[in-house]
Amino acid sequence: MSKVDEIFELFAMRGSEEYFGEAVSQREHALQAAALADAEGAPDSLVVAALLHDIGHLVHGKGEDIANQGIDGRHEIAGEAWLSAAFGPEVTEPVKLHVAAKRYLCATRDGYLELLSPASILSLELQGGPYTPDEVAEFESNPHYEAAVRLRHWDDEAKIVDLEVPDLEHYRAKIAAVLAAFQ
Ligand code: FE
Repeated sequence: MSKVDEIFELFAMRGSEEYFGEAVSQREHALQAAALADAEGAPDSLVVAALLHDIGHLVHGKGEDIANQGIDGRHEIAGEAWLSAAFGPEVTEPVKLHVAAKRYLCATRDGYLELLSPASILSLELQGGPYTPDEVAEFESNPHYEAAVRLRHWDDEAKIVDLEVPDLEHYRAKIAAVLAAFQ
């Protein structure tokens, strides 16, 4: 099976699951994040990263309420591992860093924490809380950190109930092109 088909199968099998204590499904959340990236004119690799940033939730097989059980599923690491077999760092690094970007923004942007949803604030604690100044500096040394911060903002906004956005099929050619560019 091609990677594109594997992605479509994951969304078909598990995309209807709840997005972590929010009122949208995993599929709706992913499609809204990708649509926001597209609307900002992000490069194809970053649109694909936005679409697939939570693929770790779909591949790791753990239940949706793990944060409520006090467990951090480390879905960003599962996602990066799954994606890195086929995608380059322009995709995998923002995915890996999108949780770190939340901790970074909490430490560096006044008012950011207050904008987070209750589920995001709960998971923030499990993920280690806002970054220290040393962690901020280390995060900024990653060449992909700004892409990760952009992805984080789309992630935070992609929780709107019943928003009309393009479907997964809309991204098939873009995913294939980004995969081909890395081969
Ligand atoms: Fe997300």
